[in-house]
This record gives sequence, C-alpha cells and structure tokens, in this order.
Amino acid sequence: MKEDICTIPISEIFDESDGCPFCRLRKKLETRALDYISGAAMMEPDIRIKTNEKGFCEKHYAGLVSCGKRLPVALMLQSHCNEIRFSLFGGNASAKKKAEKARGFHDGCYVCDSVDFNFRNLTVQFTRMYKQDEDFRKAFTQQPQLCVPHYADLLAVGEKELDKRTFAKLEADCDLMLARTLKEEYDRISAFCKSFDYNSEIVPDGKAIEKMIEVL
Ligand SMILES: [Zn+2]
Ligand SMILES: [Zn+2]
Repeated sequence: MKEDICTIPISEIFDESDGCPFCRLRKKLETRALDYISGAAMMEPDIRIKTNEKGFCEKHYAGLVSCGKRLPVALMLQSHCNEIRFSLFGGNASAKKKAEKARGFHDGCYVCDSVDFNFRNLTVQFTRMYKQDEDFRKAFTQQPQLCVPHYADLLAVGEKELDKRTFAKLEADCDLMLARTLKEEYDRISAFCKSFDYNSEIVPDGKAIEKMIEVL
C-alpha cells in the first residue's frame, strides 16, 4: 500500500482555524493524492494497475487535468481505456455482466478510495488522541465549526473505538460544536434573507449561501 505517502499527521489538523477541521483534512488528503498520482507515481506499475482498474470520478478527472501535467494523465487514460475494452469485449460476458462491469468502471475512483481509506484511519487516530491528550481535546473544541457529515463520522467512529465515558464526552463536544455551527449559519442565512425586505438596512454576507452549503 502506498497510501501512507498521501496521508498527513493527525496533530496538524488543528493548526489552522477556519471552518470544519475535518473538511480541511479531507481537502488536504485529496490535494496530496492528486499531486501524487499525477506525478511519478503514475508510472509505477502497481499504481498503474490500480488506476487502470478503477479510473477516476468526474471531479477527480477534472482535478488531474487541472494539475497541468498532461502527458502522465494522457498515458493513464490510454491504458485505462484499454483495460475497459479488454474487460468488456475480451471474452464472452453476458449483457448483464458487461453492464455491471461498465457501471463499475464508471463508479470507481482511485483518488476517492485513497482519500476515504486515509480519512477513516485518521478519524480512528483522532479518537485515540482525543482519549489520551487533554490539549488535543481542547484544540478540537476550540475549532470554529463542525459540519454535518463529519459530525456523523466522528459519532460513528467514536462509538466504535472509545470506552463509554470517553465517548459520552466526545458526543457532548460534537453536539455543542455542530449546534453552534448550525446556529451561526442559520443566523447568517436569516440575515441574508431579511436583507431582501423592502427598507432593510442589513448589509448581507454575500457568501451566506456558500457558507451554509459547506456545513451541510
Ligand atoms: Zn467537515
Ligand atoms: Zn473521485
């Protein structure tokens, strides 16, 4: 597994203070995976085998193209295309099997898999640090936001990994952080809506919609 190259130390996640820390973490993992895959890794046989099989989703094809390294991307596409041709038409597969395979090629993504894999590991590491280190716990609760999907991730992984007492603490912290985030975004979007009223003197936050969507 080469995934460790695309991961980051869990202790770094609270160094910044902007939005949801786990959204930042996912974004970093994504950038790292894209940089890695569009560089020398694309020429490595074991990586090529995986990218040939899985390909990429729409978002990450766009990400690879915008990395600017056209030749490695083109070479990867060339062999991925061949893999699809061979897999679909190289034998006597039934229509059902071919449809299944074609769907699998379309749905697969090497970058999504790598990010999911590393993100899951890091959330497990997060629960361990949360249990052991009071400063780490404090740094977590002082983060400005927690989004809805990452609230769900932390509760799920926390319940699995932690003892009852520590989990109750994590649950309370997550509740508090998500409630605060939703209140803040509710107030922001309400002010934005109100700014359309006739005679309103409210100066709207032009990013209210984007900021709300980010946490949902
Ligand atoms: Zn998040
Ligand atoms: Zn993807």
